[in-house]
Amino acid sequence: MSYYSPSIEKLIEGFEKLPSIGHKTAVRLAFHILDANEEDVTEFINSIVNAKKNLKYCSKCFNISDSDPCQICGSPKRDQNLICVVEDVKDVIAMERTHEFKGVYHVLHGSISPMNGIGPDEIKIKELLSRIQNNSEIKEIILATNPRVEGEATAMYISKILKTFNIKVTRIAHGIPVGGDLEYTDEVTLTKALEGRHEL
Ligand SMILES: [Zn+2]
Repeated sequence: MSYYSPSIEKLIEGFEKLPSIGHKTAVRLAFHILDANEEDVTEFINSIVNAKKNLKYCSKCFNISDSDPCQICGSPKRDQNLICVVEDVKDVIAMERTHEFKGVYHVLHGSISPMNGIGPDEIKIKELLSRIQNNSEIKEIILATNPRVEGEATAMYISKILKTFNIKVTRIAHGIPVGGDLEYTDEVTLTKALEGRHEL
């Protein structure tokens, strides 16, 4: 039997579905919402609904954006012929924080992971290849997948295919701890990893 009313119970359940939120935190958040004033709650809810409604994927790089193409792909200041391949939208943000990278991105939305049933067709590799095929000006592809088993496997898979395209393919240097995440790597380490990239 639940100690809470059905509405509170539902709110707690909602919070529990979010990543890294356990039961205790969910209860705390639910009661925080109940204590908050209605205006703040409405604003918060609207920001969630609007984000979900307005955000789309850039049809070029698959970054999340309000516009298509995204701000990065659409910027004349960015080098469209230098593509940094990352696993996740959050990795784009991590790279952007360094202010060092002046090219554009390609977001794979995952990494090859046979253990989890994710093969090359489940992530945006085909889209990367057609992007490269449609642009003969591309100078370099930087593989900035995470230094984990899956990230390395993905980088190796892509670099093998790109060998036949005759373009420069580089992998960001180590320095990002093995098993680590671009997302949680500080700007200095990430900048060094980008500068120290090597050709595959
Ligand atoms: Zn884009």
